[in-house]
Amino acid sequence: MTAQLLDGRQIARKILTDLKGEVESLQALHHRLPFLLTVQVGLQPASDLFVRSQMKAAAGLGIGYRLERLNAAVSQQELIEKIGQWNRDREITGITIQFPLPPSLDARGISAGVDPKKDVEGIHPQHIGQAVFGWSRIGTCTSLAIMELLNATGADLYGKEAVIVGHSELIGKPVSLLLLDKFCTTTICHVATSDRGRLSEHVKRAEILVVAVGKARLIQGSWIRPGAIVIDVGTNLVDGQLQGDVEFEGALKAASFITPVPGGVGPVVVATLMRNTVEAFKLQVGSDPKGF
Ligand code: NAP
Repeated sequence: MTAQLLDGRQIARKILTDLKGEVESLQALHHRLPFLLTVQVGLQPASDLFVRSQMKAAAGLGIGYRLERLNAAVSQQELIEKIGQWNRDREITGITIQFPLPPSLDARGISAGVDPKKDVEGIHPQHIGQAVFGWSRIGTCTSLAIMELLNATGADLYGKEAVIVGHSELIGKPVSLLLLDKFCTTTICHVATSDRGRLSEHVKRAEILVVAVGKARLIQGSWIRPGAIVIDVGTNLVDGQLQGDVEFEGALKAASFITPVPGGVGPVVVATLMRNTVEAFKLQVGSDPKGF
């Protein structure tokens, strides 16, 4: 079997095309547009490409966009105060803070400081909590992107063995909730799974495999169950080339569908960020009787 490639750029284009019409309708109704603020703290070469893609997508939709670069030495208190100002700024309708933050900052505290109505990254505790009930209006961008890619395969997820490698709050944990919501039998692997030498055993069972670790070729191609759908979220710079966490050539032979890196998950994450930005805008204009 040779897997079909899941073309993230094509899926993203479709999402953005649908959104463009919605943004135009919203502008006609409310006479204003969503405005996204992206915050980068310190030098973040890994997120530079992502930020450039955000700018391009926002420009294509006519959404306002500003990049705020802060010095790596910014303190927790200073950043929280700035977030307070952006929360109160009526022009800004969406805020995304690029992770990882410098180790001197407490990422959870920072995420919790963003007004949930403006948290387009979907990581405010309110959004994470709502995801447990299955009615989150703004999910985490990457977990939503993974679900879009799975949806594009046309596969029925009901009862499928889903294995997620990586249990981060940004990706692994939220996507496990979305897969549970689709009635997948869901296993989450992490560093202790690897330390006990059990990772390959779990991966070999997976009909749906989601890998979000950040270690090139952690998952060997020979572990992939024939016919599995493989979503490789990892991005690793190896000898100047972007690679995923899955040994691509081997996995391609066994899987039914696989995301390439680059060109798989990444473009869809940008599109789901834009969709969240539009959702956040609707939450704000909908909650104000004056139409703000
Ligand atoms: P993260 O916060 O560092 O989480 C990595 C996870 O992998 C942790 O849960 C960690 O477990 C686990 N892990 C580490 N070593 C492991 C091992 N040997 N076996 C099994 N699990 C292991 O990273 P993240 O934010 O979730 O991002 C993960 C990857 O996705 C990164 O490469 C990132 O660049 C990429 N990413 C890509 C996109 C995209 O658009 N394509 C978007 C977001 C992120 P412990 O916490 O227990 O150590």
